Amino acid sequence: MFGWLTKKRRKKILEAPFPFEWENIIQKRMAHYRMLNEDEQKRLCERIAVFMAEKNWEGCGGLELTDEIRVTISAMACLLILNLPRQGYENVESILVYPSERVLPEPKIGFFETALAPLETPGPISGQAFEQGPVILVWDAVAESIRYAGSGYNVVYHEFAHKLDMQDGVADGTPRLRDRAEYRDWVKTCSREYQKLLKDVERGKRTFLDDYGAKDEVEFFAVSTEHFFDQPLRMRRAAPELYRVLKNYYRQDPAAREGQYAAAREEQTRETGSAFAKAPDAKKGESE
Ligand SMILES: [Zn+2]
Repeated sequence: MFGWLTKKRRKKILEAPFPFEWENIIQKRMAHYRMLNEDEQKRLCERIAVFMAEKNWEGCGGLELTDEIRVTISAMACLLILNLPRQGYENVESILVYPSERVLPEPKIGFFETALAPLETPGPISGQAFEQGPVILVWDAVAESIRYAGSGYNVVYHEFAHKLDMQDGVADGTPRLRDRAEYRDWVKTCSREYQKLLKDVERGKRTFLDDYGAKDEVEFFAVSTEHFFDQPLRMRRAAPELYRVLKNYYRQDPAAREGQYAAAREEQTRETGSAFAKAPDAKKGESE
């Protein structure tokens, strides 16, 4: 699948030790990281190192790219593909980061020559994934995702889920699955859950999934992915069947992780009278 040159380059990247400062950034900025076991953390860092090196990064609208920005985005993007074999977002060449919504360029013909229409509707956006083009992210929105970790909102998970969806050549809310049985299960379960969300939104009922997921099947998958990684325990309780198909697809069980982590914290509290040495407070997030 990869040429010898790519393999050689990757080997070199992986031989270099993962910078301590980068891991520090991930600890602080991605709440999910501390729930991973040692092996998962190690594999995630390997993916991050390759992803950071191989993608083309651009700071736009006056934003100066820092390690903090690149590492944070890479960590979140790579969490999705942690257990997906031979998966490195081959359809993502570039990641463009803007400081805020206010400085996003007006869409105009000729902008991103190879890009088809972006998925998100016009209006304030926090990110965009182009079918044959870059991922655009607004750093303000990434910072919000960090600040409100656990709320089910994460723009990086969202846009990169779109990219996974697009890998089979069409953005339709169904990523590339393993076999026909998985497709059948996926279509049956997601159709039912999507219809349920539509009905609930129409009736003005409070829903667990963000109602932006009711826009269409494409957004449904991206929004579900946000909840899956950002509030897995709640999702498993509120939408167990949807949780199950996502678990099969991503080959990860974040709810089990979150449960174990919470139990370990409780145990620690009982033993020492205090929780873990205070983990970096994600809620404080960014100041800019
Ligand atoms: Zn979207």
